[in-house]
Amino acid sequence: NDNANWARSDKYHNSFLTKPDEGLEHALKSSSENDLPQIAVSTAQGKYLWLVAKTIKAKRVLEVGTLGGYSTIWFARALPEDGKVVTAELSQKHADVARANFEHASVSSKIDIIVGSATETLPKLQTEPFDLVFIDADKESNAIYYKEARRLTRPGSVIIVDNVVRNGRTADPELSTPDVVGVRTLLQAIKEDEGVEVTTIATVGEKHYDGFTYILVL
Ligand code: SAM
Repeated sequence: NDNANWARSDKYHNSFLTKPDEGLEHALKSSSENDLPQIAVSTAQGKYLWLVAKTIKAKRVLEVGTLGGYSTIWFARALPEDGKVVTAELSQKHADVARANFEHASVSSKIDIIVGSATETLPKLQTEPFDLVFIDADKESNAIYYKEARRLTRPGSVIIVDNVVRNGRTADPELSTPDVVGVRTLLQAIKEDEGVEVTTIATVGEKHYDGFTYILVL
């Protein structure tokens, strides 16, 4: 079927392009064993995030939505020894699974987890600017996360928002589910923001049809 086709396609490309990483594989396995939802980024997307972090020589990354820490480990792998990923997660259980996965992948020293709703924890965050922000939590709060990401970045920083296409549902006028409305509100906020340049790239792969919005802070 269609999904098996795209999963096979991702696997095929990955087999040439991405070396297996035991720490990352363990994170997915332990997330599944602990009954976390299987909604981490795909391997190819994780590698893409790693490439962006490397390309911009990121030292500080902010992530909203940790889950079992799969994407977090990708970021940590891209950072220098003194780099830091700050990752915000609502669920104590998810944070606990992620913490164990960071230990297993030997990246704990590079990662701080903030447990609680990021809608409340991010506004309290007072830190030096982040080079890269990855927004991948509850989609209805996207506009809040965007506002905080803008406050916590500087010109040249990159903000990436995941799951903005939703198999085309975001643009379907018949639909108004909270996730879709969350993305539309984000797009409107970006439109009104003169301090950024942005595009949405739609993607297909083992995680079906979706896409991400790539924002450069001017
Ligand atoms: N970035 C992860 C990865 O690719 O490995 C996947 C994150 S998953 C799509 C979304 C996560 O956001 C879930 O673990 C969920 O518990 C968390 N979440 C939901 N609402 C949240 C909130 N208000 N604040 C922080 N995290 C939240």
